[in-house]
Amino acid sequence: QAKKLGKNQYKYYDKEVEEAVYLRKKLAEHVHKAVNEGMFNLLFMPIVDTNTRTIERAEVLIRSDYPPLKKAGPAEFIPVAEEYGIIEKIDLWVLESVCKIIQENTKTFSRYSEFKICVNISSVELHNKQFVEQVKLLLKKYAINPRFIEIEITETSLVSTDQMSCDVLTELNELGFSLALDDFGTGYTAFSQLVNYPIHCLKIDRSFVSEIGNKTKDGAIVINAILSMAKSYKLETIAEGIETDEQYQYLKQHGCMMMQGYLFSKPMPWDDIHQFIL
Ligand code: C2E
Ligand code: MG
Ligand code: MG
Ligand code: MG
Repeated sequence: QAKKLGKNQYKYYDKEVEEAVYLRKKLAEHVHKAVNEGMFNLLFMPIVDTNTRTIERAEVLIRSDYPPLKKAGPAEFIPVAEEYGIIEKIDLWVLESVCKIIQENTKTFSRYSEFKICVNISSVELHNKQFVEQVKLLLKKYAINPRFIEIEITETSLVSTDQMSCDVLTELNELGFSLALDDFGTGYTAFSQLVNYPIHCLKIDRSFVSEIGNKTKDGAIVINAILSMAKSYKLETIAEGIETDEQYQYLKQHGCMMMQGYLFSKPMPWDDIHQFIL
């Protein structure tokens, strides 16, 4: 009896895996089509100063109106693009779009000189020798100052012994970009290793923020540790996913410098956010 059940479960598992693989492959074909036919657009999510609540930065988030990708969202289609080798085109398209925006709004940017656009770049590029060269070409083509761009790399992608990613980050830093570690707290970076990277900013992952106010204090403990460490290393801090006033107050009291989340604003088109920073 037990044996028979086991066998059936195994078959069921096989079928599920097969189906998941098939769906990912199908999604990869949609991403391919979207890349080739330019079916992406960008939204901008305000990042506000904790004390003044004025917009300091804006994070660019990719979207698509192409139904299969609209349904999946970037959390699903970006990993597929990474797996199928299509991510470089996407990352460079996003970066080029941002360079264009900065070029077209040079006056605004230089008047409001602290403002930055934050761009998510896949950790795949940390192992892509072409990437920095392509970025240099973009800077040349648009003749913009990279200090208006912050590059976000997810923390989970960093391995301290990996010289190549360290070199790519160093080159980006030397070109003049700011660098932020995204989803911070979810990876394994020992605090002491942070000095090895040219990092300016830590983005505290939304999963910890959403735990504020829970009976278990785990989220708060992680947040406090990150904030006090950031302070001693003189790193900027941004908390992600602020939805309630309780979360806002907690992070404010503990010295988090900047925040983003639905409490302040949802992501919006450039023309809308432009009104706020003019
Ligand atoms: P991320 O870089 O950590 O971006 C933050 C995500 O949290 C965004 O989801 C944003 O919409 C969401 N978020 C921010 N505040 C709140 C809040 O208060 N409540 C809730 N429920 N959500 C909030 P999104 O746009 O779906 O992006 C998911 C992930 O996809 C991003 O996580 C990033 O890793 C990746 N991604 C997005 N755009 C790009 C892109 O242009 N290039 C690359 N390489 N990756 C991207
Ligand atoms: Mg991000
Ligand atoms: Mg994040
Ligand atoms: Mg993320």
